[in-house]
Amino acid sequence: MTTPQEILEWIKRDNIQLIDLKFIDTPGIWQHLTLYQDQIDESSFSVGVPFDGSSIRGWKSINESDMLMVPDPDTAWIDPFYEVPTLSLICSIREPRTGEPYGRDPRSIAQKAVDYLKSTGIGDTAFFGPEAEFFLFDSVRFDQTQNSGYYYVDSDEGIWNSGREEPGGNLGYKPRNKEGYFPVAPTDTSQDIRSEMLLTMLKIGVPIEKHHHEVATGGQCELGFRFGKLVQAADWLLTYKYVIKNVARKHGKSATFMPKPVFGDNGSGMHVHQSIWNNGEPTFAGDKYAGLSQNALWYIGGILKHAPSLLAFTNPTTNSYKRLVPGFEAPVNLAYSQGNRSASVRIPLSGPNPKAKRLEFRCPDATSNPYLAFAAMLLAGIDGIKNQIDPGEPLDVDIYELSPEELSKVPSTPGSLRDALENLERDHEFLTAGNVFPEDFIESWITYKLDREVIPVSIRPHPYEFLL
Ligand code: GLU
Ligand code: MG
Ligand code: MG
Repeated sequence: MTTPQEILEWIKRDNIQLIDLKFIDTPGIWQHLTLYQDQIDESSFSVGVPFDGSSIRGWKSINESDMLMVPDPDTAWIDPFYEVPTLSLICSIREPRTGEPYGRDPRSIAQKAVDYLKSTGIGDTAFFGPEAEFFLFDSVRFDQTQNSGYYYVDSDEGIWNSGREEPGGNLGYKPRNKEGYFPVAPTDTSQDIRSEMLLTMLKIGVPIEKHHHEVATGGQCELGFRFGKLVQAADWLLTYKYVIKNVARKHGKSATFMPKPVFGDNGSGMHVHQSIWNNGEPTFAGDKYAGLSQNALWYIGGILKHAPSLLAFTNPTTNSYKRLVPGFEAPVNLAYSQGNRSASVRIPLSGPNPKAKRLEFRCPDATSNPYLAFAAMLLAGIDGIKNQIDPGEPLDVDIYELSPEELSKVPSTPGSLRDALENLERDHEFLTAGNVFPEDFIESWITYKLDREVIPVSIRPHPYEFLL
């Protein structure tokens, strides 16, 4: 634990002139404000730093705009992308009138979800481990000298396709679709850039583990960092995206976490590993199916039951549902299984150590706001435990291989963001439990997503339609 005094001493000792305060908006993008060193003192950490929140998407109206940013001293690092030495701190948001956490601040919602877990007596700690995949594209769209990032509309197929058939011929070392996992260079063209991303994360305190090319060709990548407590894991995920996007930009590339940027190849998911602990002991290990405890099975029951509405937070963009189709290692059915990657909940083979026992929810993608997505998953799981929701029988077959008749018995993921939002409208009591997600926040999420994303996308002509 770092104290505010330690941060202030650090600023003084190294004469750091600028302090960058970062916070998350509702859709999940970091916003920031930079202060001169004399604008920050001990009260900044207890009372907060005032700012105008009226232009933040989905927050306050213009006539009631004052808000407070409260930096978390445990999140301090020197920003690796600014030329002027600048200390970065992640903040939560408070109401100036009451000093209470702001009801629509996603980081405060995440903290409330953990407090709610404690209040139930089920556990005191929720661990989350996200695995966010992304594509690296060349910023120059029609660069034919590179293996990645060349996309065009194929006139026969009428699809956005990847650049293996570009005019000028095959330039060599180009794997077919879904064969990117994971030959060495020269097929792998992004080794050095991934290494730079990983080591930059290490420099600023994220506990890194590995990196590799992913299954989709042309620059789909994944970097790994250690699991953490819910709020910390979401902070790290945001830091991960920030580092990846900024290192990519430095090299003239764009990193995108868009779930399905390329038709016909794998999309990018954000599988989320999760478990609940109590008094320093894991509670998900036991003698039931796959070495799980009864609570873990009920947690799965809650996730599967609420998945149709939960996905409105874990898969919150119109593009999210283009990933959730059969044949690309993305889950399409709501079932659980040990080891089976076609099930939406997988119980990884974790060996004899009970501390490693966890489940992996494979639906989410990294367009989600991690604070909201992790909180919503935890609440679905808690609801499962409180109401002893039976997850049914495990599905230990490749779901993609089932006959249509067998498959019709397995519920599927929603087909679109609109479906998920309609489900959220019907089923959100598990989220408002303990007032973790305020009712009006859920309403504004649904309205925002419909008005700003679902409807605008649905009224725009798509290249594919021109060819019909
Ligand atoms: N890219 C796949 C997905 O969309 C996952 C591949 C993997 O298992 O890592 O979820
Ligand atoms: Mg992966
Ligand atoms: Mg995984």
